[in-house]
Amino acid sequence: MEQLKVFAPATVANLSCGFDVLGCCLDSVGDEMLIKKNDLKTVRITRISGQDLPLEADKNVAGVAVNALLSELNIDQGFDIEIDKKIKPGSGIGSSAASSAGAVFAVNKIMGEPFTKQELISFAMKGELLASGNAHADNVAPALLGGFSLVRSYCPLEVLSLPVPEELRVVILHPLIEIKTKDSRSIIKQNISLKSAINQWGNLGAFVSALYTKDYDLIGRSLQDEIVEPIRSILIPYFNDLAALVAFNGALGFGISGSGPSVYALCRGDKNATKVKNAIQNFYSDKMIDFELHQSSINKSGVRIL
Ligand code: ADP
Repeated sequence: MEQLKVFAPATVANLSCGFDVLGCCLDSVGDEMLIKKNDLKTVRITRISGQDLPLEADKNVAGVAVNALLSELNIDQGFDIEIDKKIKPGSGIGSSAASSAGAVFAVNKIMGEPFTKQELISFAMKGELLASGNAHADNVAPALLGGFSLVRSYCPLEVLSLPVPEELRVVILHPLIEIKTKDSRSIIKQNISLKSAINQWGNLGAFVSALYTKDYDLIGRSLQDEIVEPIRSILIPYFNDLAALVAFNGALGFGISGSGPSVYALCRGDKNATKVKNAIQNFYSDKMIDFELHQSSINKSGVRIL
């Protein structure tokens, strides 16, 4: 195989109760990437459309992630990477993770799959390290594996795939203001109280249980975050109004997607998701802030070949 075109999906990380350890994969939006072998023994980003991002391989997450994979294989095969960037960087729906995950997935396929998808996570995390200064896995893992991912441990890396209740839908609002992951990480407190920790791990455990038992109400009750959200939500215009609005319209839960500014609502079924999406559309339309709104199912397969 000489080349491969892939769809690299957006993801929602944290999901309120699982800061840095929980994420899920979307299918409404994603980058398209074309990866080709070259004879130059080097990795090049040959074209990026849609966004102004670095073409130098060591400054682009796709190049960094692929180089991490190739150096583990210890071969000097080169690759050309073209990215049709559909996920805006700094949106909070895993723009950098999609490029890292898509690139390592494609290169691995072209090379005859020397690594499992699980093993690809650590290479893609090198891209996250470049993008945000922190090698977190809660976007790259669901982008690669699909569905919900839980990072049980970072060292050693252990990522679990969780079941996807069929009726779950996600509504994403992206107010078009840019918040860099680096900046939104820097405002988080480094120490938390025991009381907050107890509430948080109670909710995370309950959320995991609810995915297994398909208990939609418990999913809703578990989507709470008293550690990061109170600080980060200040950066997101009308966060509290949106939380009240989607609850009034029957969403299961609501919170910040990744590091924001996108926010997500989890809903049960397409009908409720459409109702929540329309309510957000009406509310945000007169707020003098451009925005994008998506409604998505949970993508169970992750990066896929086009
Ligand atoms: P997101 O949470 O949406 O991924 P981040 O702030 O984490 O946003 O990542 C965006 C940062 O990563 C930007 O500084 C961007 O320049 C950098 N970056 C490098 N390569 C890429 C890429 N291929 N796709 C997206 N962002 C990239």
